[in-house]
Amino acid sequence: MPALAARSTKEFHPSPRGSALPTCPVCADSMVAAEASAFLTDDIVSYLWTCDTCGYGFVTKHAFRKIACN
Ligand SMILES: [Zn+2]
Repeated sequence: MPALAARSTKEFHPSPRGSALPTCPVCADSMVAAEASAFLTDDIVSYLWTCDTCGYGFVTKHAFRKIACN
């Protein structure tokens, strides 16, 4: 009799929507997607956000940490 395969019920849950997304400094509406992105260096990327509600645009910068495998 074959043994039943134990399947993991663990699922990957990404961050709740909106948790890592910026909000408009003018009307406080939440941004859904960046208009554009550009790498400033290998580790830093900037995003251009434009508010759909009021049209305000701003740029955020994000630094990526390189993962070192020891
Ligand atoms: Zn806005």
